[in-house]
Amino acid sequence: MRIKRVGSIDASKKRRSIASADGLTLPLFDDRESRVVAIALQSGSNGNCIYVETEDVRLLFDAGIPGSHAEKRLAAYGRDIREVDAVIISHDHADHVRCAGVLQRKYHLPLYMTRSTHEAAKNRCPLGTLNEVRHFRAGQVLHIKNVRIETIPTPHDAADGVAFVVEAACRRLGILTDLGHVFEGLTDIVKSLDGVFLESNYDPEMLRVGSYPDFLKRRIEGPHGHISNQEAAKLLCSAMRSNRMKWACLAHLSEENNQPALAIATHQRILPSDFTLHVASRYESVGSFIL
Ligand SMILES: [Zn+2]
Ligand SMILES: [Zn+2]
Repeated sequence: MRIKRVGSIDASKKRRSIASADGLTLPLFDDRESRVVAIALQSGSNGNCIYVETEDVRLLFDAGIPGSHAEKRLAAYGRDIREVDAVIISHDHADHVRCAGVLQRKYHLPLYMTRSTHEAAKNRCPLGTLNEVRHFRAGQVLHIKNVRIETIPTPHDAADGVAFVVEAACRRLGILTDLGHVFEGLTDIVKSLDGVFLESNYDPEMLRVGSYPDFLKRRIEGPHGHISNQEAAKLLCSAMRSNRMKWACLAHLSEENNQPALAIATHQRILPSDFTLHVASRYESVGSFIL
């Protein structure tokens, strides 16, 4: 991988030239030869937003962080949020949708969500006036230019939650969080991927001894909550057999019931030692990951 220098000017690909907002020199990737680029701008119950870029499409998955944060974090990678083609919402929980209105109005970004998610989100968060919402049905395949996006209904306790598989140029990227449990068909989906952001929400022992009230503990580990480090690791392990997956980024880690090092250690215990694992952050962007 070649490194592209800060401030390089390429008139034909100006979008890709690197210009840090604060003038810092950032060691950035050269993605000109790659097909799919992904950056976890933030991941966790405090807000979720994942950026995915292909040759001619730029997408944000979920709108759980302030527009100013998304703009600044994308700018650090030389990306302009105003060039995003669509914001696609997974479900109505506030950590995924609370900033959708701002993203739509401030940057004029079209929003994609199911009708039920839209209705539930309006009741949950003050979204304000939304001018451009495109409804889809959970399970529908979306096409945005040459990108295909599978929407996968999940048993998470949302109104109409979905996870995603983004497919472009024969690469398949999963964005699989807020899953509820390891539902039927999920293992096959993971096996089909080249890279994945995969929920690894909690360590069962930390949850058990932690300070959450019992009803919340039951919700998290129940069939409509989140999946644990162990469950995520087993999922990835089964995907290894297809010999297709290049990397996984553990996502939506609980602050109270997990630790990045513990999540990684749990995965490393059962995954091949040379498999590439990343952990998305609750506080900053992590990436870019390339397929
Ligand atoms: Zn969430
Ligand atoms: Zn959720």
